[in-house]
Amino acid sequence: MAKTGRNKRTCSFCGNEESNQLLLLDGIDAHICENCVQTANNILRKIHNDYKNNIVETFTFDKKPIEIKNFLDKYIIGQEEAKKVISVAVYNHYKRIRYYQNKKEQDDVEIDKSNIILVGETGIGKTLLASTIAKLLDVPFCIADATVFTQAGYVGEDVESILSRLLQAADYNVSKAEKGIVFIDEIDKIARKSDNPSITRDVSGEGVQQALLKLLEGSIINVPPEGGRKHPEQKFIQIDTKNILFIAGGAFDGIEKKIANRLNTKVIGYKKNGNKIHDDDMLQHITSQDIRAYGLIPEICGRFPVVTYMTKLDEDALKRILLEPKNALTKQYQKLLEIDDIHLTFDDEAISAIVEKTVELKLGARGLRTIIEKIMTDAMFDFPGKNKKKLHITKAYVIDKLAVINK
Ligand code: ADP
Repeated sequence: MAKTGRNKRTCSFCGNEESNQLLLLDGIDAHICENCVQTANNILRKIHNDYKNNIVETFTFDKKPIEIKNFLDKYIIGQEEAKKVISVAVYNHYKRIRYYQNKKEQDDVEIDKSNIILVGETGIGKTLLASTIAKLLDVPFCIADATVFTQAGYVGEDVESILSRLLQAADYNVSKAEKGIVFIDEIDKIARKSDNPSITRDVSGEGVQQALLKLLEGSIINVPPEGGRKHPEQKFIQIDTKNILFIAGGAFDGIEKKIANRLNTKVIGYKKNGNKIHDDDMLQHITSQDIRAYGLIPEICGRFPVVTYMTKLDEDALKRILLEPKNALTKQYQKLLEIDDIHLTFDDEAISAIVEKTVELKLGARGLRTIIEKIMTDAMFDFPGKNKKKLHITKAYVIDKLAVINK
């Protein structure tokens, strides 16, 4: 609000004058400046949090590994080994939480956490797997990209901001956040560049790993509620990471060579009992040792006791991804059109054509959406408001709509 020639108006709370930099809101007999609105908002949020945090929820999750896996099957195609391993890890994780909730004095065994590393190229469902687990458990979930973090004191995001995000996902309920799941993507990108720390000290990668370690170790962390860099005047919220499940994902490009080295074989063409082990198959032998050889520091590897892998998606898997999961893309478009009373169907050959194009463009599962969106746009533009109530997508239709991509 610009200054006028009249008497200068002041905030009835802090007394500051209205100016070009300070906006004043009017009440009946008073004014309040934007800074005081902000302060009031923070105070209210704090009171609200304190109230919510007094409600400490006990965790009652009791699904068995097989039930967890059955749930995952509804959303994730293939990746049987990863789904099985993660089902057991999650089951153990929440059993551990219950153990500590009801721990008696004579229980002197400490159970370690089952943080998980998922190895597999981009777009094969690592994030989907982690988020589906969170959905099943109904716990807060957040995704963080390891590449944006820097070690303390450098420009970039502090690792603590991961917990700010988790806290936001938990609607600022600390007790809920403390049982949440964090997915750290691209963990391989903060690997040390050399296996031998004394030769190449890759400070940034290792520095971030050290910073991450603090979160993984199960300590109480001071978290800035709004994320971002810490400001001296910012109030912290304390979060105990002891029961937070960390799932990390990474492509670990070239890790097959580390596995082969350990197994004392060559990557391609190794014959054992007459069976060739290919690049793809090599991943099934992955262990924590290979992750360490790739450049994650031993302490980090120690905090991720569960290591599993996800396989490349072949044409058949992509086809199933289009059709089968609960939220399959074809089902999503059918739902969208159904709202306009339009019945959408796909020819089997049309589905194959979509998959072939995705493979040809090397887009992976993520590309299915781009391709199908291209195919559906015209129809979704033209159909609503017309009298046509049926849309059948044929192979010819797909080829016609995708022709532009080839040009
Ligand atoms: P990543 O984390 O491995 O890079 P995402 O989980 O983000 O891959 O996968 C991208 C998208 O591809 C998912 O949102 C999902 O739509 C689809 N997708 C990938 N893999 C699968 C799968 N195995 N089953 C079902 N959908 C999948």
